Amino acid sequence: MERLYSKLDNIYEDIVEIRRYLHQNPELSFEEEKTAAYIIDFHKKLGHEVKGNIGGNGVLAFLEGDKPGPTVALRADFDALPIKEETDVPYKSVNNGVMHACGHDGHTATLLGLAQVLNQMKTEIAGTIVFLHQHAEELPPGGAISMIEDGCLDGVDAIFGTHLQAQMPLGEIGYRTGPLQAAPDRFDIKIKGEGGHGAMPHDTKDSIVIGGQLINNLQQIVSRKVDPLDSAVVSICNFEAKGPYNVIADSAQLTGTVRTFKEETRNYIEHEIENVVKGTCQVSHASYEYTYTRGYPTLINHKEETEFVKEIAENVPGVVAVKETPPIMGGEDYAYYLQHVKGTFFFTGAKNPEWEKAYPHHHPKFDLDEKALLIAAKALGKTALEYLKDQAKE
Ligand code: MN
Repeated sequence: MERLYSKLDNIYEDIVEIRRYLHQNPELSFEEEKTAAYIIDFHKKLGHEVKGNIGGNGVLAFLEGDKPGPTVALRADFDALPIKEETDVPYKSVNNGVMHACGHDGHTATLLGLAQVLNQMKTEIAGTIVFLHQHAEELPPGGAISMIEDGCLDGVDAIFGTHLQAQMPLGEIGYRTGPLQAAPDRFDIKIKGEGGHGAMPHDTKDSIVIGGQLINNLQQIVSRKVDPLDSAVVSICNFEAKGPYNVIADSAQLTGTVRTFKEETRNYIEHEIENVVKGTCQVSHASYEYTYTRGYPTLINHKEETEFVKEIAENVPGVVAVKETPPIMGGEDYAYYLQHVKGTFFFTGAKNPEWEKAYPHHHPKFDLDEKALLIAAKALGKTALEYLKDQAKE
């Protein structure tokens, strides 16, 4: 199987070139037409059967091995973010205000490079490999759910995917059985008070004061009402109430996010926010509107497949540490795939050892150590080949 590794080593420069092309030409979620066309073209040149427009801009490519066996899907997302890039790299985004600031350019380059190499290894493939290129990971409802509705998992026995992690040192792989990423939800609260003269507050219902109370009262849901051994976040990320300096605002708007791992905690917080809003508004004789919008489900990795990746990763060249990673509160719509088929999602370290500071994901100065792409390709490729072989035997 060293063949896979050496073949990937040989095209490392090409993988980097793909990543830089994608980085320079980012497209927003649900608008990734050119990126999808690029991916389709790449697979067509390799002679793969390709299907575009899967649940939107999603792309599926198929590689059938010479030996019979099951079907494994490898997933990479390809959308970018509404961020103005502030790096000095020569392949900086030319699409002003749009940036690959989460590494999805790296994911896609990894999968395309891997497709090119696996295409030359059909004799060693026992079954079928589906290259699942997903659009719109960054923006709910996300691309995964519509791709699944459009049949992207039909015939798929297991799925594997990785996320490059700029905060994790290059050479590390992080795995975890069970919940890995939280369910990211959104809430919108509108306080409907009564505006009036700034000099005569007694004739108004001051929505800003009520909003100020809410900012504090909502903190108590996690700190006082959720089991400290459970994990949850309630963050108010926007508070808006506009008016001239001497007018008390009629209404105020609070928007934020809730992150949970357990469905019961999620349900509880959804209702508890409304209770707090209701009570706080009641005391001040104001009314409210409340909307809670569910994002992706909790990403829950399957045990057997996670352990499979862990063992493979330990022998991948360039990997120096395979660690059980703590769960993170960030969401990922890969979660949907795992509700339908077996599989796992793991992290590939991408922090250059010489960097003093690695900018976090979604930061305008975000960057990756591109050597991580090679490690990710090796780990994913080897996992696919071995998993197919292993399952074909059974
Ligand atoms: Mn991401």
